[in-house]
Amino acid sequence: MAQSEKEAALAAIPVDGDAPTIFDKIINKEIPSTIVYEDDKVLAFRDISPQGPTHILVIPKVRDGLTGLSKAEERHVEILGRLLYVAKLVAKQEKLDDGYRVVINDGKNGCQSVYHIHVHVIGGRQMNWPPG
Ligand code: 5GP
Repeated sequence: MAQSEKEAALAAIPVDGDAPTIFDKIINKEIPSTIVYEDDKVLAFRDISPQGPTHILVIPKVRDGLTGLSKAEERHVEILGRLLYVAKLVAKQEKLDDGYRVVINDGKNGCQSVYHIHVHVIGGRQMNWPPG
C-alpha cells in the first residue's frame, strides 16, 4: 500500500538537520523532475504526487539551514520573499487565474516530509477550508 503523506511526514522527522534530502538530487539533476521555472536562486518543479491538476514545489537552490519555515532567521528574509514571488510567477505561468493555494508545511504537525523548505502551489480545482 502506498505510504500516505501523513505517514511519510511522521517517518521523516529529521535526526540531523544538515542531512541532504531528495531535493538536493533534484537541484543537481541527479534524479529527473519536471522543472517549470529556474533562476540562479530558485527552482520550481512538479510534485511527484499532485494534490490537484496543478501542483508545483518552489524551493531555494541553497538550503542554508532552512530545513523548514520554523528555522527561518533574519538572513533568510530575501529568499523567503523570492520563494513567494516565484510562486506567483509560476501560478501565472500555469494560468491559475481563478486562484490557487500556497502552502508551507512545517514539522511533524504540519505534515512536512522533506526537510528542505518548499512552497506548494496547488491549483486547477476548488479548494476547501479548513484544510485537513
Ligand atoms: P511536504 O510534505 O514536506 O510539505 O512536501 C514534500 C513534497 O515533496 C510532497 O508533496 C511529495 O509528493 C514531494 N516529493 C517527494 N519526493 C519527490 C520527488 O522525488 N520528486 C518530486 N517531484 N516530488 C517529490
